[in-house]
Amino acid sequence: MTEKNSVDFVRQIILDDSESGKHQGRVQTRFPPEPNGYLHIGHAKSICLNFGIAQEFGGKCNLRFDDTNPEKEETEYVDSIMEDVRWLGFEWEGEALFASNYFDQLYQWAVQLIKEGKAYVCELPAEEVSQFRGRWNEPGKNSPFRDRSVDENLELFEKMRSGGFKDGEATLRAKIDMSAKNMYLRDPTLYRVRHAHHHRTGDKWCIYPTYDYTHGQSDSIEKVTHSVCTLEFENHRPLYDWCLDAIGIFHPQQIEFARLNLTHTVMSKRKLLQLVESGLVDSWDDPRMPTISGFRRKGYTPESIRSFCAKIGITKTNSLTEIGLLEQSIREHLNTIAPRRFGILNPIKVVIENYAEGESEERDAINNPQDPDAGTRKIKFGREIYIDREDFMEDPPKKFFRLAPGREVRLRYAYFLTCNEVIKNDAGEVIELRCTYDPATAGGKSPDGRKVKATIHWLNADDAVDAEVRLYEHLLSFENPGDMEEGPDWLKSINPNSRTVLNNAKVEPSLASASVGESFQFERMGYFAVDMDSTAEKLVFNRTVTLKDDWAKTKKMK
Ligand code: ATP
Ligand code: MG
Repeated sequence: MTEKNSVDFVRQIILDDSESGKHQGRVQTRFPPEPNGYLHIGHAKSICLNFGIAQEFGGKCNLRFDDTNPEKEETEYVDSIMEDVRWLGFEWEGEALFASNYFDQLYQWAVQLIKEGKAYVCELPAEEVSQFRGRWNEPGKNSPFRDRSVDENLELFEKMRSGGFKDGEATLRAKIDMSAKNMYLRDPTLYRVRHAHHHRTGDKWCIYPTYDYTHGQSDSIEKVTHSVCTLEFENHRPLYDWCLDAIGIFHPQQIEFARLNLTHTVMSKRKLLQLVESGLVDSWDDPRMPTISGFRRKGYTPESIRSFCAKIGITKTNSLTEIGLLEQSIREHLNTIAPRRFGILNPIKVVIENYAEGESEERDAINNPQDPDAGTRKIKFGREIYIDREDFMEDPPKKFFRLAPGREVRLRYAYFLTCNEVIKNDAGEVIELRCTYDPATAGGKSPDGRKVKATIHWLNADDAVDAEVRLYEHLLSFENPGDMEEGPDWLKSINPNSRTVLNNAKVEPSLASASVGESFQFERMGYFAVDMDSTAEKLVFNRTVTLKDDWAKTKKMK
């Protein structure tokens, strides 16, 4: 069980409640997504918190879809949300729940509120409702419909329900206080008319309850003890409490925490939908998207996301978290589990002139230095190999220690190699290097103590396998998403170099049988996961993350 003093404030409240015997020590939370998009990394924070609390306190966490907006919601989103929660490693008890399951009960409670003089049907048009609401420093005005009789209200609410009003012609409002300091208490809307088809209730309803009227009552019906949500709902809490008390039902406690904001990342589902619809990304699970499905496709593991969420903790003040911290979490996890392989992103052919034609041999390579049980593998070495273009320079600057004309380097797990001649095409591009190797340096050790300053990776040319490799940069050019353009122009904030596709990569032959989602470290190049676009002809890899935090480095250099 969690220790006092080392826990966040939400867990502290729950500990205190358990100790004082509130709810007889019962702990129940819920994760309440609106099914209007795919889940993003911010949702992961809320999932880890809500399901995590249930696990730690021997309680239960419901998955409840907040499906009160018929127009924007789709079954595709419901399915993806369930898949993502499970993939993160959490399971809800029983069926997934829907706020729409409670539409009948919510309707009955609305009728009860009308009968008790706590709600009325208002026919002010939307603009006037907002004018009448006043401003934060100036009281609002009562609606001319506020003092209707109970009978008239019951009749009009029934008219709303049975389709007698068009969209926007009438609302049901709580009768609270038009001069309340808290704007949410100025006769908030409980029901609006929407002649729209709902993904679960079909055409049964043409009135739909608002979020504020639905959420607390749904929590209450499910007997949620602690309703944990993000800070923007703090001002809604008095209304949450008002509804439960006015109806007179079980009263869960709403607790607010700071949402996750990440550098270089947009996190609103509305904006993410725009990215998908505008074609700036391929889909919701495009590896550039901050969605859980995007991270999964990019090669992130559930463990890495959970450990990131544990590291950032739960606080009550909004802040901006470095995306580098998330990247560090996946690096740390893959470092322990990902097999090492050689992959050449931009190959250049090397002919080893003193290696006999038609001959070859096998070299031993370590599968994972972090995992002694992972053992070694054989990789073929012969007269023609590939090295990465980045590891050669014809005219190297002082600090470049890798291959260059007349220079000797170590081929990892193989031999020392010296470059003798550079072959170019008509356009002046280097297309081949003519080299020699030193057979006395097997295993990369020189018998005479000769030193080389660099070790590079390589692949045997005749059995290397073709691959496409996709490299990613941050989706958003701005570090702080708050600095983004407002309005429709915000799409200009997208980094035009967010994806680079390399078509001629080469990888070790053993990777031909790798399955979608499998992760590898390509030595020196980063961690890569097999993408679902892979075919029998061509493997496709996504770079999950580089080996080091290059971005932080370049930022410092600027
Ligand atoms: P968005 O603003 O991105 O569209 P939302 O708040 O509308 O998100 P919901 O589907 O209503 O999305 O969210 C479900 C739950 O996830 C809510 O309890 C919400 O508070 C929480 N949540 C959403 N975004 C974040 C975030 N960035 N950090 C932590 N929790 C979040
Ligand atoms: Mg929402």
